[in-house]
Amino acid sequence: AGDVVECDVLVLGAGPGGYTGAFRAADLGKNVVLVERYASLGGVCLNVGCIPSKALLHVAKVLTDAEEMREHGIDFGAPKIDIDKLRGFKDGVVSRLTKGLSGLAKQRKVSVLTGEGQFTGPYTLNVTAADGSVKTVRFKNAIIAAGSTALKIPGYPYDDPRVITSTGALKLEGIPKKMLVVGGGIIGLEMACVYGALGTEISVVELGDGLIPGADRDVVKVLTDRIGKRYKVMVRTKVSQVEATAEGLRCTFEGDWAPKEPQTYDKVLVAVGRRPNGKLIGAENAGVSVDERGFIPVDNQCRTNVPHIFAIGDIVGNPMLAHKATHEAKCAAEVIAGEKSYLDYRAIPSIAYTDPEVAWMGLTETEAKAKGIAYEKAVFPWAASGRALGNGRDDGLTKILFDPESHQILGAAIVGVNAGELLGEAVLAYEMGADISDITGTVHAHPTLSETVAMAAEIAHGSITDLY
Ligand code: FAD
Repeated sequence: AGDVVECDVLVLGAGPGGYTGAFRAADLGKNVVLVERYASLGGVCLNVGCIPSKALLHVAKVLTDAEEMREHGIDFGAPKIDIDKLRGFKDGVVSRLTKGLSGLAKQRKVSVLTGEGQFTGPYTLNVTAADGSVKTVRFKNAIIAAGSTALKIPGYPYDDPRVITSTGALKLEGIPKKMLVVGGGIIGLEMACVYGALGTEISVVELGDGLIPGADRDVVKVLTDRIGKRYKVMVRTKVSQVEATAEGLRCTFEGDWAPKEPQTYDKVLVAVGRRPNGKLIGAENAGVSVDERGFIPVDNQCRTNVPHIFAIGDIVGNPMLAHKATHEAKCAAEVIAGEKSYLDYRAIPSIAYTDPEVAWMGLTETEAKAKGIAYEKAVFPWAASGRALGNGRDDGLTKILFDPESHQILGAAIVGVNAGELLGEAVLAYEMGADISDITGTVHAHPTLSETVAMAAEIAHGSITDLY
């Protein structure tokens, strides 16, 4: 029962994948319905992910910079933090962007339906609004962009508001005195940097051998050297029990760095990864395959096993990153519009916006060694960069991996302040099949941190005996 809406393209989920796919399909002349359960567009990324975290990390950086200015003779005194105002800043950034998206949807005549979507057949999806009313969408093509949800370790007292995920941490409800971050990946460490700068005493516990598992150890070491001085970091350790008490959350540890006695924290932030929402959308009714973890398998055009249904973003697999989702979104929309698009990127950059930032793309040394891929490397330490020294932050390095024969770039990793911005050059070089001489032959402005990329290439150049 209820209304029926007809469209060419149904897009389920209005995160970076969904809105990009919807807009692209509309631009290509399709009549598009975008279904989102929340009133605000933008998905995890804009509402409770990339954007609010970066707004707070900016504030964290200003606080830390001000504190470190003391060493150079400038003392701003102790910061006075108005948490409501700070939250207002963060919320303002988010709402400017999400409102902007609503405007862009209107401009393109994309109809937005607010409610929970469930497939009821290969060409139909029901949308249940908060008031219980149901609309049926009939579509010719669909793009599933229903994203992912924070994973929760079983057995923790999640009813207790002091146990939070990144979504709770980004609400910025207060500044806890002591917080335990469970999980030493990108999301956990970014939140650690935010709260650490606001004055929270931070402990990080990680089950694996080290922090940020995807990046090379030499690069991550620069980060751990700095945060190890500020926070208590426990690797190869797990929290075996979390008990809610009147004084706080009493945590019991096991493993190499486990404190002997249980420790009590005001907040426990669980940041142990994200789970795709594949099993929550009635995919089976449309005949769309979902694997046991909840991912939807797709081909290099983002097509599922059902030829007229596509899937993109976090729900199709790792890395769960916004720029991967948007890239896939454009591809899916173009294929639906009859273009011969397919995914042909060489690398998806990964960036931890921690202090310092850790950024990498393409081949890592860890991967090269595991797969027996021949490579050479050149590493430029930021201690030799005039600009890094002038910034008072010489903790960084820029590393390039290249092919020993052709000297083509195979991968790059940068750690240091602003490493995320610096990585762009390396991604472009890699995408274009550049070799070391293409970088050394490019004039880099002095004094910039981008010169560290050129300097790493110069080091590589020096180690290449033939050809040059
Ligand atoms: P999502 O953004 O998850 O959007 C899916 C949407 O679908 C949601 O709005 C959801 O409400 C909706 N939906 C789901 N099921 C239904 C349904 N049945 N009916 C209706 N609507 C539904 N990535 C980066 O690249 N850079 C970063 O700096 C970064 N920082 C992050 C920080 C944090 C704290 C977190 C949690 C994530 C971060 N990410 C970052 C990851 C990034 O947010 C995701 O990769 C990205 O949002 C994925 O986009 P998506 O379109 O696949 O899905």
